[in-house]
Amino acid sequence: MYEIEETVYKRFKQKNNMLFRRLWDKTLPTYHQMIDTNLEKHIESKKDGYSRIDFALVAAGWTVYERFPYAFTWERKDLMDIGYGVNWMKSKHVIENRQKFTNYIKKAAKFYGTSLVGIAGINEKWIYKTGFMRPDDVSEAEAKQDVRGGTAADSIYDQPIELPDGINKVIVMGVEMDEEAISTAPAQPAAAASAIAYSKMAFIISCLGEFIRNLGYRAIQCGNDTALSIPLAIDAGLGALGRNGLLLTPELGPRVRICKIFTDLPLISDKPNRRFIEKIKNYCKSCSRCAEACENDAITKDENPSFNPTSISNNPGVKKYYVDVEKCFEFWIENSSDCGNCIMACPFSKIKDILSPLEFWNKT
Ligand code: SF4
Ligand code: SF4
Repeated sequence: MYEIEETVYKRFKQKNNMLFRRLWDKTLPTYHQMIDTNLEKHIESKKDGYSRIDFALVAAGWTVYERFPYAFTWERKDLMDIGYGVNWMKSKHVIENRQKFTNYIKKAAKFYGTSLVGIAGINEKWIYKTGFMRPDDVSEAEAKQDVRGGTAADSIYDQPIELPDGINKVIVMGVEMDEEAISTAPAQPAAAASAIAYSKMAFIISCLGEFIRNLGYRAIQCGNDTALSIPLAIDAGLGALGRNGLLLTPELGPRVRICKIFTDLPLISDKPNRRFIEKIKNYCKSCSRCAEACENDAITKDENPSFNPTSISNNPGVKKYYVDVEKCFEFWIENSSDCGNCIMACPFSKIKDILSPLEFWNKT
């Protein structure tokens, strides 16, 4: 399923992710650049999809993600009695039929709002070696702001990551991004689709995590933190890695955001979707729509994947299409948001109509 050079591959250090590198790597043209760098210039340009209304939609989409940092906690701090009592939560629920119980966990994940869900055992390779560990009551934006302002140590994004003993399953979820909004990429409604999916992730993992704890088991709720989400999702049967560096799913292509919960629940794992993985391997060889749609040539048009990373933000040792994420991030700063062109262009996203931002706003 993966071609890995075992002597080269090492667990990823999250500080090398571009969103963190721009906080510390002075060699980058995007060093200390934030999304607001060109924002007012865009609003003044009066370009369709870059108005104050568009940016307001994006920024508000992040509300739950940023205002509810507890969504990403590793454990329940207190047993809060919201009127249901707490004593019954303290013992482990007896699981008589693992398959039936696994189905219930998937049902609960969908009930709380995820679009896709799969389960895998944990391959330690995908767990970050070190990562961004902020206090439970501090939002990601606030923590990054503290780093930039010099009031938090750089070590906040370089903390050793080890999952606790007994945590041996991961529930991986894919949250759909709005089809019409993504079709406007790289304009701001597409970024709003991404933002609101992050907020939905926070909502879903916090509810599902509490559900698991109410049954007496442990839940480590994660967004992009703690581990590489894409290989975990592939292991959990959700899809395959595409040329654009994203998870492609049979149902929604790359039009999903991924979140996950590590747990000690005795769940039954899904199998990787080998047929779909093979299909994507062949399809991406002769399709380069994502590469053609990329405004900064960040996606390779080479026919075959390789072992050649483009920068320290790529984790070497895996055969794949490496995305030049430095170039990608330069476009994000220019665009005053993430971009989404490589999601919009992928045929597996199944976007029926490409809308202009104006059409997006006027469509009821
Ligand atoms: S997000 Fe945009 S800039 Fe980045 S790789 Fe995709 S298309 Fe290129
Ligand atoms: S646009 Fe084509 S090449 Fe790119 S990820 Fe999708 S299927 Fe693969």
